[in-house]
Amino acid sequence: MSRFLSPALSTVTPYTPGEQPQDQQYIKLNTNESPYLPSPRVVAAVSEAEVEKLRLYSDPACAQLLRTAAAHFGLQPSQVMPGNGSDENLFFALRAFCDENHPLAFADITYGCYGVWCGLLHIPTHIIPLKEDFTLDPADYHGLHETIVIANPNAPTGLCLPRDAIEGILQSNPDSVVIVDEAYVDFGGESCVPLIDQYDNLLVVQTFSKSRQLAGARLGLAMGSAALIADLNRVKFSLNPYNINRLTLKAGQAALEDTAYFDKTRAAIMDTRAWTMQQLTDRGFTVLDSRANFVFASTERISGGILYKKLKENGILVRHFDAPRIENWLRITIGTPEQMQALMDAVDKILEV
Ligand code: PMP
Repeated sequence: MSRFLSPALSTVTPYTPGEQPQDQQYIKLNTNESPYLPSPRVVAAVSEAEVEKLRLYSDPACAQLLRTAAAHFGLQPSQVMPGNGSDENLFFALRAFCDENHPLAFADITYGCYGVWCGLLHIPTHIIPLKEDFTLDPADYHGLHETIVIANPNAPTGLCLPRDAIEGILQSNPDSVVIVDEAYVDFGGESCVPLIDQYDNLLVVQTFSKSRQLAGARLGLAMGSAALIADLNRVKFSLNPYNINRLTLKAGQAALEDTAYFDKTRAAIMDTRAWTMQQLTDRGFTVLDSRANFVFASTERISGGILYKKLKENGILVRHFDAPRIENWLRITIGTPEQMQALMDAVDKILEV
């Protein structure tokens, strides 16, 4: 830290992303990326002609992608906003709907960036503990009079609320924005997009990083009433109007259009998830009922931290959070069947089954 850093920033603890090692070939089950390649249509869309156009700025309105996305989700283009990953849209939403006097409510165990951004933006936090079994009690979110963010399915637990539970939260907070982070919804969750026309306080955020194989392209969509989306655009055009680059605009559009590939790959992940959950359960692990492209598991046989280290020594990266309540748990991304078999072989070796 330099002596010039603003004192307000010196107290912010930045998010620690999952390891992205460059030194060694690991089986990477630590950052919830897809093990599958992007759709062949994406590869074709990112053409040489498009690369040559990189000398020109990208379309700040992202008009073509918006039209495709709106048609895909049954919305108007004015109800959709692309972001540089869902991270950017979530950040824009916090900037737009919270401030020193308008706190953000979220669970104690959820996506770590919510709290980090609150630190950066001086937003007070209202942290609501999940129940003992890591489920979220919707009643805890009724009548809060605060902006709310709920990851659904949640990370790192993978647990999911039904749409009507979120609807109850929307109804009991008519004057607050409820942000539903649907980063993992395509792996068995129930999306709240169909509620958008009914609730002007609902903002749904999705990503292309997990179910559309584009984590490295950085693309997400925020969806809500035209008024909420206009608020997000106010932030975007005050910060970085060209936030989505040309190649990503093309890649995202092609990925959205290839619904067959999308359905095939997410079905494969869900099948492999069921297999993985069964294998872990057979070995005495407790595994939460995941609706995401990862599982959250723990065992009395070895501590989460030690298992994480031993798996890494065996060339397999998983995610361990050294945080209260979950220090004994591992979040394991669902890879290909072969990768998950390698994980089980390593677990057996480590536990000497
Ligand atoms: N929300 C949740 C719950 C996540 O787990 C993540 C990424 N790990 C994100 C949002 C951000 O995803 P991205 O910026 O890649 O769209």
